[in-house]
Order: sequence, then C-alpha cells, then structure tokens
Amino acid sequence: MAGENIRCQVLVIGSGPGGSITASALAARGMDVLLLEEGQNLRNDSCAPFSSEEIAQKYRSGGLNPALGNPNIPFVEGCCVGGGSEINSGLYHRTPAEVLANWRERYQVRDLQEKDLEPQFEFCEKVLHVQLNPGRVPAAADKLKAGADRLGWKSREVPRWYEYSGPISRERKAQAKRQTMSQTFVPAFLEAGGRLLSGIRAQKLAWENGRWNTIGVRGSESVQINAEAVFVCAGAVQTPALLRRSGIRKNIGNSLAMHPTVKVTALFDDEINTLEPEVPAHQVTEFSPRICMGCSISSSAYLALAMTDYPELQQALRAHWKQMAIYYAMIQGPATGMVRNVPFSTAPLVRYSLNPENMRSLSEALRNLCRAMFAAGATTLYPSLSGFAPLRNEGDLDRLPVALSAANTNLMTIHLFSSCPMGEDLNLCAVDSFGKVHGAEKLYVNDASILCTAPGVNPQGTIMGIARRNAMHFADHAS
Ligand SMILES: Cc1cc2nc3c(=O)[nH]c(=O)nc-3n(C[C@H](O)[C@H](O)[C@H](O)COP(=O)(O)OP(=O)(O)OC[C@H]3O[C@@H](n4cnc5c(N)ncnc54)[C@H](O)[C@@H]3O)c2cc1C
Repeated sequence: MAGENIRCQVLVIGSGPGGSITASALAARGMDVLLLEEGQNLRNDSCAPFSSEEIAQKYRSGGLNPALGNPNIPFVEGCCVGGGSEINSGLYHRTPAEVLANWRERYQVRDLQEKDLEPQFEFCEKVLHVQLNPGRVPAAADKLKAGADRLGWKSREVPRWYEYSGPISRERKAQAKRQTMSQTFVPAFLEAGGRLLSGIRAQKLAWENGRWNTIGVRGSESVQINAEAVFVCAGAVQTPALLRRSGIRKNIGNSLAMHPTVKVTALFDDEINTLEPEVPAHQVTEFSPRICMGCSISSSAYLALAMTDYPELQQALRAHWKQMAIYYAMIQGPATGMVRNVPFSTAPLVRYSLNPENMRSLSEALRNLCRAMFAAGATTLYPSLSGFAPLRNEGDLDRLPVALSAANTNLMTIHLFSSCPMGEDLNLCAVDSFGKVHGAEKLYVNDASILCTAPGVNPQGTIMGIARRNAMHFADHAS
C-alpha cells in the first residue's frame, strides 16, 4: 500500500458520531464518500462492554490522556471505528433550549432554533432506538432517585441508545445492546456505497490545484487521498491538532471546553451492585445545565480505580463492593483549553485551566451530590479527594472546602468540545454556522469541536443532531 493514491468526492476523517453521521448522510445523497479512521474496525463482540479489554482495545492511549493545568484533568476518548460511541454509556439528551439561545446570541450561529434541529434529532433517535430502559432499573439508580426525592429535587431517568430484548418487565433486567455507530450509521453508510478505510491516521491536509490532498499513515506506509471536499470529524482534541498541523489555525484549538467531573463512592447497608455491569441512567436535573449529577459504571475494576484515594480501604472494598456504587457531579467548564502539537509526537499537548469560581462550583456540585447520597441512606462517602477522611454523616459535609483545592482534587472528564466553535463571529469562531472553516475552501469540521460551549448535558445527542443538519446543508448546496 506504500504511496497508494485514492480519489473521492468527499473525505470524512474520523468515524465517531460526527463523522459516521456525516458520511452516511452524504453517501445516502449519492456522493462518493470515503470514511477514514485511525483506529481498528472491531467486531461489536470483540470484548465485553465496560471491561478492561474494552479499555485496551478501543480507548485512545489506554484511557490515559492528561489535560495539563491546575489541577490536571485526565480525559478519555475512543479510538476505533465508531469512536466514542463504541465505549460510552448511551445517555441521550437533546440540546437544552437555553444553550442553543446562548450559541445563537454570543457566537451568532444562524438557523439554530429548536425547530431547525428537531427533524435531525428525530431521525437519530429512530436509528439509534433511543428509549427508556423497559426492564428493571439498576439499584444504584434507585438510590440516586430516592435521595433526590427526599430532598425535593428534580431527577429523571435519561433515555439511552440501546435496543432491549428478552422477557421484559420492570421486575427483570432486560437484555440490552448498545447502538453504536458501528451497529447503525456505519453499516448504512457502506450499504449506500461508501468506502471505509480503518487503521489509517490522517497526518496532514494540503489544498492543491483546487482539491484537498490528505496524507495518511498506516505504520510506516503512507496513503494519499485526493478529495473535492473534506470533513474533519476527529473529535475535540484530534480535529484541532490535525488542522493546526496543516497550517489552519485561526480560532482553532484555542477554546477547548469540557465537563470537569468529581466523583463520590457511596457505601450502603444493602446490596446495590452486581458482577454484571449495568448503566444506571438516572440524573438529578435540579441544577441543570449548570451542574449535572448521575451514576457511573461501578464494576469492581472501576470501583478499585475510584478508591485509589483511599489505599487503606482496598481490603474493605473486597468485602463490601456489592454495597458500593460510584456517583458523579459535573459542571459546565469554561472554554479555556488549548490544543497544540508537539514536535516528534503524535499526541497533542492539551492544557486546561479552572479559575477559583469553577473550583467553588465543583465544591457546590460535590456537596449536593453528597447530600443526595446521605438522603438515599448512604452510610459512608468517599469523595475523589486525596488525603480526605471519608464522610459519615451530613454534619461531616462542613469539612468540604468552599472551593475545592487543586492540590488534592482528582477530577476527570469524558466530555470534550468547543475547540473549533461554530458561528459567524469571526473573532470567536473557527467555522461558520454550518461547519465550513472560515477562510478555507471546501473544508468542514463536523464533530464535538464545533459546539460553542459546554452544553451541560451528555453531548452526543447534540453532536449527532448538528452533524446531520450540517451534512444535509452541504448536500443541499453542493453544486
Ligand atoms: C467513557 C465515555 C462515556 C461517555 N458517555 C456518554 C454518554 O452516555 N452520552 C453522551 O452523550 N456522550 C457520552 N460520551 C461522550 C461521547 O462519546 C462523545 O462526545 C462523542 O463520541 C464525540 O463524538 P465525535 O464524533 O466528536 O468524536 P469521537 O467519538 O471522539 O470520534 C473521533 C474519531 O476520529 C478518529 N480520529 C482521530 N484522529 C484521527 C486522525 N488523525 N485520522 C483518522 N481518524 C482519527 C478517532 O479514532 C475517533 O474514532 C462518553 C464518552 C466516553 C469516552
């Protein structure tokens, strides 16, 4: 394959939700589309969901990516055909109306009313079978709901992109299958005549003689792809890195945002955890979109990781893991992140900073989460703070600082966006209202990067709705 040259009408780089939906929408409109993916094309049953094998196979760098700052925030991305959709929990939200209003006003995004996105949301919801769990709700989710109810806070079960089967009733656990991109939009794309190339990383783009020439690498081999138009959909970190490597830098990689997330492991008297990992889909929405609280996967491997701040309790964990579950609180983080390339490295440098006000919001989020857990009957809480004594009752909450300290707070995130914001404000935005890179010919971004700010809800619904809207706009205007 050394030096192979491929031609296509449209090249889509990255096969996560943004890229798969773009590629399948354009192929369905009769275009000659090539979908390029750095990661491998793995069978859905190549590993168990949420297992350590899944982390090794499908996560970028085994899940170890740091955003450097004060504090550092580890982040997680998918790297396989389907991107993040292959490893995520499937919690689905449409974009909150107030978030869209902010993007229209502050970033001057055109045609982004709820009604503009509704047909796109409806389409994606149907393809992905977005629905509530018709079976038994995991016990950890019941606890969060009970805590919220006792405090008089709003909470709800969030729908997910899962197909359910088996004898279904609220008393029994339903068989559930995650509706990833590799199960849905990628097969539809291939059926419509699209071509998929996996295991090839796009290295650089160059505009030559009125077309885009993309250099891709697979090991030591190189591939050149010549396309009329390119959609970069490599995710909120890799998209700006690729564009910057290609000399395209205006407002690119200067405004990465995320949902900084703090966690609490809760111990109850009764058993709430099982060997089979379940996704508890309830969230407390009382403070949304500013603060969102929910339940995490609490398999024994995840519990062991969550309890690294309490090394003396690893033994107790073995005895009590069935009574323990992990919960999270996340905030709408500011757009202060930077993505830059480092010579001789394929991993971009990511910096992200939180200010004292953000650390106060995180403390408020953590305090509220702990209140909900105590109201649910938790006997001990282990927040993700190093060197912090466990919390044993409501009174102990006074020990939480008014602002979390960068020195001992262990945050993480799985939600990244906004590194190439969309809109018509040329001072702020990298791409126009439909994803076209300002100042470049036939070059588009159509993934999490173009969300103007942190949406405050799980983002994939927004990414999918906007990606489909932009792909349809491109197809409608292609001459
Ligand atoms: C553990 C986890 C749980 C999550 N849970 C939820 C949830 O419940 N609900 C929700 O809404 N969101 C969730 N998310 C977030 C959601 O998965 C992401 O927001 C979404 O996948 C982002 O889509 P994307 O298309 O922008 O990028 P990605 O999904 O990151 O896809 C980008 C793709 O591009 C490929 N790529 C990158 N660089 C290159 C290159 N140079 N050349 C070729 N290919 C490249 C990558 O390998 C990747 O496959 C979760 C994320 C994680 C990690």
